[in-house]
Amino acid sequence: MIIAERKPFKEIQEMVAPYGDVLIVGCGTCVAVCLAGGEKEVGLLAAQLKLARNLAGQAGRLGEITVERQCDREFIEPLRETAADYEAVISTACGAGVQFLAALLPDKPVFPALNTTFIGVNEAAGHYTERCRSCHQCYLGLTGGICPVTMCTKGLLNGPCGGTIGGKCEVDPERDCAWCQIYERLESQGRLEQIEAILPLHPHSRTTSPGTVIHPAYLRRYAAHE
Ligand code: SF4
Ligand code: SF4
Repeated sequence: MIIAERKPFKEIQEMVAPYGDVLIVGCGTCVAVCLAGGEKEVGLLAAQLKLARNLAGQAGRLGEITVERQCDREFIEPLRETAADYEAVISTACGAGVQFLAALLPDKPVFPALNTTFIGVNEAAGHYTERCRSCHQCYLGLTGGICPVTMCTKGLLNGPCGGTIGGKCEVDPERDCAWCQIYERLESQGRLEQIEAILPLHPHSRTTSPGTVIHPAYLRRYAAHE
């Protein structure tokens, strides 16, 4: 899932300072799970803003709404009407959600309340770690399910680099060397010969942004995007 963290309150407060009526829009999926931008966090942000505005003697309404996913047109379309009553919008979604909402409401300033950090996993309550760089060419089938792009500090596709010390990374001795882990995983699975395969240069041309993926079943419908 997408992991994000809330921006410092002061930064959010300053972004919306010129606006009276502000709608805060939460996202009920990734950022709700990582406790950054779901319904509860929207309520908390609204309470903080309300208090700060009261203290500053600033008038204005603060609205709250949380949709299932801000990155899905189906869920944000109804916000066009809701947002019409407000001067500005704060989105507590990841960057994708903020941009989709901003495109839906081109006449209205839409501000991000979060910093999007990475694609990761939930190791334990409140503990998230990065796992994927969405690199367009997944190597996990060749590397024992351990991503060299993300887990190797240098992102080496054909490691290890030679600087490994006692199974630790030379860049950060606190971190396990990803390529040692890959070696051990492949060995434990009886697939160690796999490590001798030389991975080709990463197809960076595929990572040109912004990326577009059209599911084959919809190719004809969206032919213009190809
Ligand atoms: S907008 Fe971002 S945070 Fe919300 S569901 Fe989509 S990807 Fe996840
Ligand atoms: S190789 Fe790593 S970064 Fe690339 S898609 Fe697979 S998991 Fe993600």
